[in-house]
Amino acid sequence: MRNGTRREFVTAAVGLTLASRPVWGQTKPRVLVIGGGVGGATVAKYLAASAKTLEVTLIEPKTRYTTCFFSNLYLSGLRSFESLTHGYQALSERYGIKVIHESAAMIDPVSKIVRLESGTTVSYDRLVVSPGIAFKFGAIDGYDEAATQTMPHAWNAGPQTKLLRAQLEAMEDGGVFVIAAPQNPFRCPPGPYERASLVASYFKNHKPRSKILMLDAKDTFFEQDLFEEGWNRHYPGMIEWLPAEFTGGVTAVDLKGKSVKTASETFTANVANIIPPQIAGELAQQSGLADQSGWCPVDPMTFESKLQPGIHVVGDAASAGDMPKSAFCANSQAKACAFAIAAALTGSERPAPHLFNTCFTYLAADDAVSDAISFKLIDGTIKISNIFISKVGENPETRRRAVREADDWYDAFTHDVFG
Ligand SMILES: Cc1cc2nc3c(=O)[nH]c(=O)nc-3n(C[C@H](O)[C@H](O)[C@H](O)COP(=O)(O)OP(=O)(O)OC[C@H]3O[C@@H](n4cnc5c(N)ncnc54)[C@H](O)[C@@H]3O)c2cc1C
Repeated sequence: MRNGTRREFVTAAVGLTLASRPVWGQTKPRVLVIGGGVGGATVAKYLAASAKTLEVTLIEPKTRYTTCFFSNLYLSGLRSFESLTHGYQALSERYGIKVIHESAAMIDPVSKIVRLESGTTVSYDRLVVSPGIAFKFGAIDGYDEAATQTMPHAWNAGPQTKLLRAQLEAMEDGGVFVIAAPQNPFRCPPGPYERASLVASYFKNHKPRSKILMLDAKDTFFEQDLFEEGWNRHYPGMIEWLPAEFTGGVTAVDLKGKSVKTASETFTANVANIIPPQIAGELAQQSGLADQSGWCPVDPMTFESKLQPGIHVVGDAASAGDMPKSAFCANSQAKACAFAIAAALTGSERPAPHLFNTCFTYLAADDAVSDAISFKLIDGTIKISNIFISKVGENPETRRRAVREADDWYDAFTHDVFG
């Protein structure tokens, strides 16, 4: 990245309408990134790699991050848990990022200070927040934080994913696995349906008399035709999907009675996976970054908050027009945000943001489909400009090739984020 002229710097800084100004010639401008998931780790890495004159600090409580993406493969026994887990060593050793393993408790946007849970405070010139999602506990009667230990959501990867896998392993052949799928918008639109597919793959091999019942809070879902074709081909009669039109979605759970309720019916579940409706992560809610929708409105060029100038939000927490809440989008947004911050703080060139999504989705161990979407800014919002989605009726070799591509994508992508 070359040094920009003074004029370019002024233009970039005005374009960003950011409140803070670096202190030239004294200390390095400090960028603080909260959340070391896909969005936060990518911002930190790309800032540290592209703008050596910045001091980059990453705040993340976990020392090892487990990816949600490909966690459905772990549920089906096709991947180890360890293969989904990544550390922060390369970010600190290779890129000089200071990684602090703590939770951020409070943001003071006026003094530009973040207080950590230990009470320590960290100052910043620019702040990026990528806290992921929080769950709307209370939306489903009886389903609170404690209930996740009996009926896991497994929508943040880690202990929840292991718990769900253990429950599936312990379930007797002939049992019923109930999945409650949430209303839009939520993290990973094809995720619940990929989960049904890969758990069905596990059942087919190990518990062939078992059934999967999906109780959806929606009437349609992303790539529905591809999933339905895959379910009929690989698991005839095993997966039943009930749209909101028939049930209204899950309204309550009974942990003792091991049942899941809709407005008109009660379904007994041997294993229940409740994926509640979602909002931006807790810190975003507390810090005035989220609006009434529960998500964080942002400038689509820089990912600067529309509610709290000088703070950027990327990843699932951001309300980013047509962009789905995916790891690929979080990574794409993070790069646009990093280049915008680097431009504002160092005067470097600010490339126009290129926002993309690519997603591989497994229907079976040897059958994957994909989508590739590019976005552009229209009237100040992010809109889909081109979209490719796999087609119904593709030949098995095309689908096997997508499985190989998906594996390669995982390695390249996680290297891009954490390597
Ligand atoms: C089952 C499943 C399958 C998926 N499959 C795919 C896929 O195939 N492809 C794809 O692109 N996407 C997929 N996704 C979606 C993807 O995982 C998310 O979109 C992505 O993780 C979002 O990144 P993020 O940075 O916004 O949030 P996260 O990756 O969740 O990171 C948030 C981080 O912030 C930290 N944090 C939160 N609060 C604080 C705080 N107060 N202080 C410090 N740190 C904090 C958390 O510990 C966490 O590490 C899938 C999701 C699921 C659930």
